[in-house]
Amino acid sequence: MITPELVRRIKEKIRGEIYESYPMHKRTTFKVGGVADLLVSPFDINDLLNLVTLIKEFNATYIVVGSGSNIIVKDEGLRDVVIDLTKNFTNIIKENETFIRFEAGVMLSKAISYCIKHGLSGLEPLIMVPGTIGGAIFMNAGAYGMEIKDLIKDVTLIIPDGRLVKYKKEDIGYKYRGQFLPKGAIIVDASFSFISDKAQDIFERTEKYKKMRLKTQPIGQPSAGSVFKNPPGYKAWQLIDEAGFRGYRIGGAVVSPKHTNFIINEGSAKAKDIIDLIKTIQSVVKKKKNIDLELEIKIIGNKNEI
Ligand SMILES: Cc1cc2nc3c(=O)[nH]c(=O)nc-3n(C[C@H](O)[C@H](O)[C@H](O)COP(=O)(O)OP(=O)(O)OC[C@H]3O[C@@H](n4cnc5c(N)ncnc54)[C@H](O)[C@@H]3O)c2cc1C
Repeated sequence: MITPELVRRIKEKIRGEIYESYPMHKRTTFKVGGVADLLVSPFDINDLLNLVTLIKEFNATYIVVGSGSNIIVKDEGLRDVVIDLTKNFTNIIKENETFIRFEAGVMLSKAISYCIKHGLSGLEPLIMVPGTIGGAIFMNAGAYGMEIKDLIKDVTLIIPDGRLVKYKKEDIGYKYRGQFLPKGAIIVDASFSFISDKAQDIFERTEKYKKMRLKTQPIGQPSAGSVFKNPPGYKAWQLIDEAGFRGYRIGGAVVSPKHTNFIINEGSAKAKDIIDLIKTIQSVVKKKKNIDLELEIKIIGNKNEI
């Protein structure tokens, strides 16, 4: 639990930005979510390590958020310390011609711009994915047949016992939209291995992917991307469509008429509307097709996932 004494010690010891009662709807692309009791953007790695140590000392819990593009924060908010690396962990370090280390808070859009400028190919399919490097690695983000794991050389982590360690790609273990990192691991940075190519060719490929996304996805409307994973042998959007959900609404949450695996917040949605819509879709698809739709997005809040 976050006690006043823990808040006092964090303020005393940790450099960076510290916010009490932070409205999480400002930190999710769905634009929903209640208040986080405490959100901390540590200044550097020492502050991050000290923060984790303090949280443990007080038997409190933490959760890391990236840019909030794959999460729903419940309306009741968060009683964990929210660790935010998007403010101060944003460096890009060139290790050699094709190995680049990105800190966890670097936005994918910034990483892709850097790659275009420096003639480095690999990340193009993730153009317009509004996530961070940390979130993308945690989710093993992917698109158009590519997964981010394909590009990773190693990842620096803080593991739950508070140690800073480096995991090689093969130590991590990836799966479809996930990984097998120790529970509670914090991704600090990662080194990527790219292929050299002409900047113009890389740029043209990103433009091609951009056009494909704009044609098929409700870009610009508040969402968290694909809600469900594709069950083996099926497309989640098709199962949802065939179950009659295109345009279906609960409160301000609507199944996108453009892409039925996207739920959009028409402006007034609560997290509960989205969660109720998710549960309804899951139960109807189970009844009609006997298929379990597993969530791709994460629901965060007390008593965590549904
Ligand atoms: C319009 C749109 C299109 C999208 N398209 C795609 C797509 O094509 N492919 C795809 O895979 N996804 C897609 N997404 C989903 C999402 O953008 C990605 O999963 C993204 O990589 C999540 O990054 P994030 O920084 O927003 O993570 P968040 O949503 O903030 O967090 C996601 C999870 O990662 C954990 N996490 C975040 N940072 C860290 C860290 N440093 N250390 C440890 N854990 C961490 C969080 O605790 C949480 O469990 C899309 C989303 C939108 C809104």
